[in-house]
Amino acid sequence: MHTLRTEDIIQTIEQHADEIALVLIGGVNFYTGQYFDMPAITGAAHEAGAFAGWDLAHGAGNVPVKLHNWDVDFAVWCSYKYLNSGPGGVGGAFVHEKHGNNPHLPRFAGWWGYDEDTRFDMQKGFKPMQGAAGWQLSNAQVLSMAANWASLAIFEEAGIERLREKSRQLTGYLAFLVEEVRKNSEQAAADLHVITPSSPDERGCQLSILTSKENGRHLFEKISERNIVADWREPNVIRLAPAPLYNRFEEVFHFYEQLRAFYL
Ligand SMILES: *Cc1c(COP(=O)(O)O)cnc(C)c1O
Repeated sequence: MHTLRTEDIIQTIEQHADEIALVLIGGVNFYTGQYFDMPAITGAAHEAGAFAGWDLAHGAGNVPVKLHNWDVDFAVWCSYKYLNSGPGGVGGAFVHEKHGNNPHLPRFAGWWGYDEDTRFDMQKGFKPMQGAAGWQLSNAQVLSMAANWASLAIFEEAGIERLREKSRQLTGYLAFLVEEVRKNSEQAAADLHVITPSSPDERGCQLSILTSKENGRHLFEKISERNIVADWREPNVIRLAPAPLYNRFEEVFHFYEQLRAFYL
C-alpha cells in the first residue's frame, strides 16, 4: 500500500491528541496523487483540539475545495502548477475568517500585510490588513501576476466543477488504458502498478505509476521522446497528470499508443 486510509489518519490524530497543535498535510499528495478527505481530517483535528492547515500545492486548480465551509483554519498553495502562473508565480493563502481579523496572531509580518491606510505612517508595531491580506509578505511580480490573472479568468469561465467532471473522465480514461496494456502484456502487468487510488473521489488529475527498476526509466525516456510531458520521481515513479483545461482525450490515447508500443 502506498496510500493512507482516512480512518488510520483520524485514529493517529486521536491517539496523539494531547501532543498535536497543528495537523498540516497536503490535500493532494504530490507523489501518489491521493486526494485526502479534507472535511473529515479537518474535523478530527478540531476534535483533538488542534488546528487544521492544508498544503494545496497539488490541489489548487485540480480539485474543488470548500475551505470556509469545511472549517479549515488555513491553507496555502503555489500558482505555477495547475494554475499556470509560471515559475516564480505568487503563492496563495486562505485564512478562515474566524482567524483572519485577529491582529494578535503571531505571523511573518510583511510590509504588504500592514494596514494600507496607515502603512506609511511608520508607527511602531504591526497593524495587519483585514483577512488573509494581513499575511501578504511582499510585492508580487507584475508579469507573472498577469499570467496568473489571465489563467484564473479562464478557470472562472470554465468553472472548477465542470473541469472536475472532465478531469474524472480524463484520468479515468487514462487509468482504463493503462489497465488495458497490463491485461495484454505479462511484462506490463509485472512492471506497472498504479499507486493512485482507483476511486475518482480519492484522486485529482494525477495518476502515479510505480514502474520496475529494469524498465521504468527506459519507458519514461521513450514516452518523453514522443512528446509526452510526464514526470519521473525517484526511485521509480512516473507521474502523469492530464489537466482538463487543456489536455484532450486524444492526448491520453497518444500516451496509450506509446505504452502499447513499448510492451506489445
Ligand atoms: C510544489 C509544491 C509546493 C510549492 O512549493 P514552492 O516553494 O511554492 O515552489 C509545496 N508543497 C508541495 C508538496 C509541492 O509539490
